[in-house]
Amino acid sequence: MKNIQRICLCLTALTVGSLFLSACGAKASDKSVSGTRDDLLGTVITLTAYDKNGERAIDRSFGRIADIHRRMTTGEGSEIAELNERSGAGAVALSSDTFALLVCAGEVSRSSGGAFDVTIGPLVRLWDVGGEAPTVPERARIEDTLSLVDYSRLELDRDNESAFLSQKGMSVDLGGIAKGYACDESVRIFLEDGVSSALLDLGGNIYGLGRKPDGSLWKVGVRNPVIGEDGVVGSIQVSDRAVVTSGINERYFIEDGVICHHILDPGDGRPADNGLLSVTIINESSVIADALSTACFVLGMEKGRALLGQYPGTEGIFITDERKILVTDGLKDSFELLNSGFSLAEQ
Ligand code: ADP
Ligand code: MG
Repeated sequence: MKNIQRICLCLTALTVGSLFLSACGAKASDKSVSGTRDDLLGTVITLTAYDKNGERAIDRSFGRIADIHRRMTTGEGSEIAELNERSGAGAVALSSDTFALLVCAGEVSRSSGGAFDVTIGPLVRLWDVGGEAPTVPERARIEDTLSLVDYSRLELDRDNESAFLSQKGMSVDLGGIAKGYACDESVRIFLEDGVSSALLDLGGNIYGLGRKPDGSLWKVGVRNPVIGEDGVVGSIQVSDRAVVTSGINERYFIEDGVICHHILDPGDGRPADNGLLSVTIINESSVIADALSTACFVLGMEKGRALLGQYPGTEGIFITDERKILVTDGLKDSFELLNSGFSLAEQ
């Protein structure tokens, strides 16, 4: 009898990788307004604006995120579900939105050499880490399924904004990037509505817009990724930046004592296992940070750092299973170690 321990998969504030340390000196002004929803993109989303126009921006953002949820998750009736159903059969016309996100996901798939693979869908379903029946599949099934994972067989037609998965059974899964896109869209709406100070938290995809009302930077915590431990390992300070974490502790199940998490290596079809517990990426674009955090987690520390070199202005925090923390050069001054159980890695 397999010993399967299922972990609650509804992401709560306690299971995300980065978190806003609001208690660290942010004094909510009288004008602050906040909204939370837990029914979108499989996570808990909290948007807080420090501005009189905040309420409108928050309402409009949730409307926009609901659109993105309807179109881009794999749920029945979504554009992505239709694209997946038509795999091997024909191209599907998409909204400009969905098409743009597929283009972005395709680009990171290429730049990461397939460590991030937008066509990871069949493998995600096979392991079902976030679903009803998570399981360690047999080797042969993993091999068969891997033959359906290949981003180069997602054909994108820019003229018609249509997409085609060229083999039956292939499927797109935007779980590693959609929250980032939704975050960028919310930031765009906040700016449109004249909000210049806000904190967006999409299940641990954090964005600090402008500065805190007192003029200081936003302080964002990097959560301790060790399963069974709480709290943060450190913090960074940002302005107009996304801080996005991918880690083993976000979704996982334990079978026969082995932790099986939700970030799958398209190389061998198994949860990525290269000594990393989490990767946090800081970038002005949340969608890029989201895709890169997943990609770097799969690539491991050395190759992940090399990938970041292709994205100027991007910084990263890599945490290893030996409790070492590597921060990239641009974070040297801003990263504050807050947990004595961890130490900074030599470069
Ligand atoms: P989270 O969504 O928990 O914040 P990530 O951004 O790292 O974490 O995304 C993980 C999700 O991305 C998985 O749940 C799955 O839907 C998808 N995914 C898993 N492995 C890959 C991969 N190698 N490439 C692209 N997407 C992936
Ligand atoms: Mg991601």
